Amino acid sequence: MSEIERQYQEMGIDDDVYAYGKRILQDLEERFRDIDEIAEYNQLKVLKAMQECQVSEACLLGTSGYGYNDLGRETLEAVYAKVFHTEDALVRPQITCGTHALALALMSNLRPGDELLSPVGKPYDTLEEVIGIRPSKGSLAEYGITYRQVDLLEDGSFDYESIRKAITDRTRLVTIQRSKGYQTRPTFSVKQIGELISFVKEIRPDILCMTDNCYGEFVETIEPGDVGADMVVGSLIKNPGGGLAPVGGYIAGKKECVENAAYRLTSPGLGKEVGASLDVLKSFYQGLFLAPTVTAAALKGAIFAANLYERLEFAVIPDGRESRHDIIQAVTFGSPEAVIAFCHGIQAAAPVDSHVTPEPWDMPGYDAQVIMAAGAFVSGSSIELSADAPIKPPYAVYFQGGLTWPHAKFGILKSLQALVNAGLVDKSRLRP
Ligand SMILES: *Cc1c(COP(=O)(O)O)cnc(C)c1O
Repeated sequence: MSEIERQYQEMGIDDDVYAYGKRILQDLEERFRDIDEIAEYNQLKVLKAMQECQVSEACLLGTSGYGYNDLGRETLEAVYAKVFHTEDALVRPQITCGTHALALALMSNLRPGDELLSPVGKPYDTLEEVIGIRPSKGSLAEYGITYRQVDLLEDGSFDYESIRKAITDRTRLVTIQRSKGYQTRPTFSVKQIGELISFVKEIRPDILCMTDNCYGEFVETIEPGDVGADMVVGSLIKNPGGGLAPVGGYIAGKKECVENAAYRLTSPGLGKEVGASLDVLKSFYQGLFLAPTVTAAALKGAIFAANLYERLEFAVIPDGRESRHDIIQAVTFGSPEAVIAFCHGIQAAAPVDSHVTPEPWDMPGYDAQVIMAAGAFVSGSSIELSADAPIKPPYAVYFQGGLTWPHAKFGILKSLQALVNAGLVDKSRLRP
């Protein structure tokens, strides 16, 4: 037995499970090389932006109080604008999460009487209350901003005919969610998003196009800003925070859009000029610097999981061979026991709270119990290895993250081991 096999064994991975994983990986060498190449490109892109903006030691220090003349904050926002190829950016710890960033971008760029259009079907769950699809205090609907949606065609493609019809004189902003989130539609490539934006702009060039970029950053070499998006929006406790940002969100985009967002985040008249960065800047810079390779690690984990479970005849979305545009992997297990065992395995692989056992619970806002596995350094961070699943048919787990590839690999082997230990996957199926 090799040294590494012994180490895995000491950490609860049987020979059979390890050997099975090793065989799966042999077929993935070329895919992983491509991912490394994208990470290499993106690493240089981030580095170039940091160098061109002359990030200095002083930028790593924060401000307190009003935060006037915050060099680090202003430089960081310039770096984001360069990385996403947009005119400007707002990158703040005061943006509390991805939903907040998206809500901010929408509320600050829409006015009463305007209409918001989603041409890609239902948006992410938490946006339903922002928009007012589910009534909520302070929703866009309460401010007289209406919403229209065009669903995707059966095959997951854009319904251009219906989109054309849905665009009216009142249409002000089009929101395009890159990642499938927790739906079963495909995730869009940046190129596809570009085609949709071009289509919209041909009908009415003054319509603003926003992309919800959550989970998509650095998966490809281009970002939505490269294909005409007026705003690119996301969370720093996902990909671009590189696992180090402890909080935050970003809006990169046209100068005017970003200014509107800043006026809404702080106050009319104050905009970007205030907002103390406290002590987070170093983690924002360092996290962004690491983000390309961290995203690559998470992506390898997702592809490894897809291939490993696909060969055991579980349904996986995306499948093992599909090209990737986000870091989320869904695996359908078909039974609550298997879903729970999978999550136990992920939890047991964590650097924090590995000794606790996650259980399904009645989470507010969900119609079924939900189980979540996460042992993260940053609470709720989903660029760190994590999984969650509603306990209802078809009993699918959504899995994402992994700050390093060895950790993502270990977590997935641990999940398989948990299924084997629970008698839900027969060991004979792991043999060649
Ligand atoms: C995570 C996510 C959000 C919301 O981000 P939070 O930080 O959880 O509020 C929105 N859209 C998509 C596609 C996401 O993946």
